[in-house]
Amino acid sequence: MVENLVIIGSGPAGYTAAIYAGRAQLNPVVFEGFSAGGIPGGQLMTTTEVENYPGFPEGVQGPKLMQQIRQQALRWGAKLITDDVIAVDFSQYPFTVASDDLLEVKTRAVIICTGATAKRLHLPGEEKFWNNGISACAICDGANPLFVNADIAVVGGGDSAIEEALYLTKYARQVHLLVRSNCLRASKTMQERVFNHSQIHIHWHSSPISVEGDRILRCVQVQDNLTGAVSDLAVSGLFYAIGHTPNTQLFQDQLELDEAGYIKTQGKSTATNIPGIWAAGDVQDYVYRQAITSAGTGCMAALEAERWLSQRRLSPVGGTPNFVSSVA
Ligand code: NDP
Repeated sequence: MVENLVIIGSGPAGYTAAIYAGRAQLNPVVFEGFSAGGIPGGQLMTTTEVENYPGFPEGVQGPKLMQQIRQQALRWGAKLITDDVIAVDFSQYPFTVASDDLLEVKTRAVIICTGATAKRLHLPGEEKFWNNGISACAICDGANPLFVNADIAVVGGGDSAIEEALYLTKYARQVHLLVRSNCLRASKTMQERVFNHSQIHIHWHSSPISVEGDRILRCVQVQDNLTGAVSDLAVSGLFYAIGHTPNTQLFQDQLELDEAGYIKTQGKSTATNIPGIWAAGDVQDYVYRQAITSAGTGCMAALEAERWLSQRRLSPVGGTPNFVSSVA
């Protein structure tokens, strides 16, 4: 039995691709996976209020939003398999996707939506305040009343850290940017913006080493990396912007990835370098990283897959695929 389409991953990209593919009568098989986030549904399963997803004027809890998108995928006939994919073979057609429970599926097309994982520092006290003072997404969590008119800290010195710090000045009284070295890695334009911002204070050679609080976060202990001295910084928020790790370990030797490990997609499409395989969501996007952009690229991938499959409806499955025309 050869499936039409396997979707790997279950964030907004994966389930949206499943909705579109289901409605196109492709009977998609979705491997929901849970090892990256600990639970199917992707990064939104560990968020609280999502206030920027269109259609929810009062906001919606991340897990509830994912549950609803999942329900919609089920309604359109997606077959959901709650299991991690542990191996893929894209060198033979039809492609093979194998899961942890030793299920091996042959498929004509694949959409990869395995997302990315925000890097954490694993500080003492971090678990207690995760999503309750500590976050890895200013756009998602910045407007939380905890941070309004408060002092907050951002860790990192790249473009993301600068973006987060600038964004947080809308809400916070003061933003402390903790940079572990004596320079920023961010682009010069972005650097100018923080250097000239009255609400942003840069702490060079500074690394957070632990967090403290009671019901909410109250303080971050910061180490001076030159002298080793430790001081208390009174803040009610700590935002990590130290990079993301795309969940692409499975595809390393099979698909073209960029230097940071993100899957390369072609032009304005979600096509990868292998015809018949698309990538959507954060696994191929390090710029926007929003639930809505993820869902948008999931939709694009499903439409592209549907067109590609219908162009090849008469192609025999097995042997070499019909790769004559370009993807998408
Ligand atoms: P980067 O890898 O560029 O930067 C990570 C930052 O975090 C660096 O300053 C690094 O310090 C610091 N860091 C890493 N580990 C630690 C740690 N353990 N403790 C303290 N600090 C740490 O990641 P970004 O997410 O900022 O950017 C990723 C890519 O996305 C880049 O190519 C960036 O240009 C791009 N991007 C583009 C945007 C745009 O175009 N609008 C917006 C956001 C990102 P150090 O420098 O010392 O290594």
